Amino acid sequence: MHNIFEELKSLGFDNLDKAEIFSAEAKGKKAEGTPKSQEVSLDAILYDKTYICPICDKVFTSKAIRSGKNRLMSVDTDLKPKYDRVDPNIYECIVCPKCGYAALGKAFTTVSPKQLSWVKEQICSKYKGRDYPGILTYEDAIERYKLALLTAVVKRVKDGEKAYICLKIAWLYREINDVKKEETFLQYALTGFLNAYNNERFPIFELDELTTAYIIADLYRRFKEYDKALQWVGFVILERNVSLKLKTRGLHLKSLIREEKAKVSGGEPGAK
Ligand SMILES: [Zn+2]
Repeated sequence: MHNIFEELKSLGFDNLDKAEIFSAEAKGKKAEGTPKSQEVSLDAILYDKTYICPICDKVFTSKAIRSGKNRLMSVDTDLKPKYDRVDPNIYECIVCPKCGYAALGKAFTTVSPKQLSWVKEQICSKYKGRDYPGILTYEDAIERYKLALLTAVVKRVKDGEKAYICLKIAWLYREINDVKKEETFLQYALTGFLNAYNNERFPIFELDELTTAYIIADLYRRFKEYDKALQWVGFVILERNVSLKLKTRGLHLKSLIREEKAKVSGGEPGAK
């Protein structure tokens, strides 16, 4: 069976073949991705931000992005941003170099006493340290995000938070054109967001309820489940409280879904 955490074997985690993210059967394809280095000089954009590990108290620095130095160029339909100089997703995941505790910057310090002991038992006791370079490749970032995903499972965080991490991992795979693994993690993101939508409170980090519904619609579109995609995007567009920006995105997505649906079924574009 494929192990989605296989990048973490060299860090000391070698029995994760059956690890489950959402208490459901995991599936995916074998890893074959190649690293892709950042090509531009990043000194002017990145700076060292200091963190204190909430598990082991280690003080360390991790690269962060100076605001205003990185220009937003475009946004994919599932809201993945594209910047002109640095992909901020690469640096959003923080890893303690001493104990291996990993989380998104936004969740790094959120640890309850119980979670602290679970992380010590199941992460820190196994972690074989690795010194990451200051400037990370996509391969480095994927490894760090998977450590954060494993940590999230160990911390027993809510499905929405795990889904958010999976979405980010899918975006990293999109950047290195690993379509199969991108799909695997988009599927995890969809499963987790659906669970969260039914059972959890919003926001999930910066994602409010309607934005999450919009992302669910686009993920269904990507998996060619057009009727479900239309239902979700219809809900977003018709909601009274939707922002103009999200409504505009929703209308665009709706026509895209109809176009793709018509192509698949051989019908007329725009037909109901
Ligand atoms: Zn630590």
